[in-house]
Amino acid sequence: MIVFDLICHTGGHEFEGWFGSSDDFENQKAAGLVDCPVCGSSTVNKAVMAPNVGIKSNQRTSARPASSRHSEQSHPAEGNQAMTKAVPIPPEYQELVQKLAKAQAKILEQSEWVGGDFPEQARAIHYGEKDAAPIHGTATADEVAELEDEGIDIMPLPLPVTPPKAQN
Ligand SMILES: [Zn+2]
Repeated sequence: MIVFDLICHTGGHEFEGWFGSSDDFENQKAAGLVDCPVCGSSTVNKAVMAPNVGIKSNQRTSARPASSRHSEQSHPAEGNQAMTKAVPIPPEYQELVQKLAKAQAKILEQSEWVGGDFPEQARAIHYGEKDAAPIHGTATADEVAELEDEGIDIMPLPLPVTPPKAQN
C-alpha cells in the first residue's frame, strides 16, 4: 500500500488516499474514482508522496512516536525532507491497513467483479435465481438499504477496489 498526499484543484483541498500502487492511483483517477472528500471534485492530483519509513536525516526525531513528529519539524535547513501537514499515520495503522488490504485481496481472489450490477446479482443469488458465487461490485446507499431490508447478506469492502476494466 502507498499513501499519496492529494490535492484537489477545484478548491485546493489537501487530503490523503491509500492505493495499491502508483498505477492504481492513476487508474482510479482516470476512472474518476478519486474524489475530494471536502467538495467531491474529481480533479485531483498527487502532491508529495509521504514515505512509509522513518526520517533518515533527522535522528533526533526518528525514535519518537509518529504522533509527536510534526511539532518537531521547525528546522528547514536539515536536508530535503518531504514533510507535509498531514496528520501523522501511526505505524499500527499502516500495518492494519496492509493486513486489511491482504485480507480483502484474499476475499476477492475467487470473487467476480459485477460492477453496478451488484444489487441485481446479489438479489438473484439470494432468491436462488443464480448459483451462489462470490461477487463484488458497487451499490448506492439506497440500494444497500434495500438489500439489507430484504435480509440479503452483504458487506461493504473496507478499501476501494479498482474495477478490472480500468486496469488497462
Ligand atoms: Zn476539494
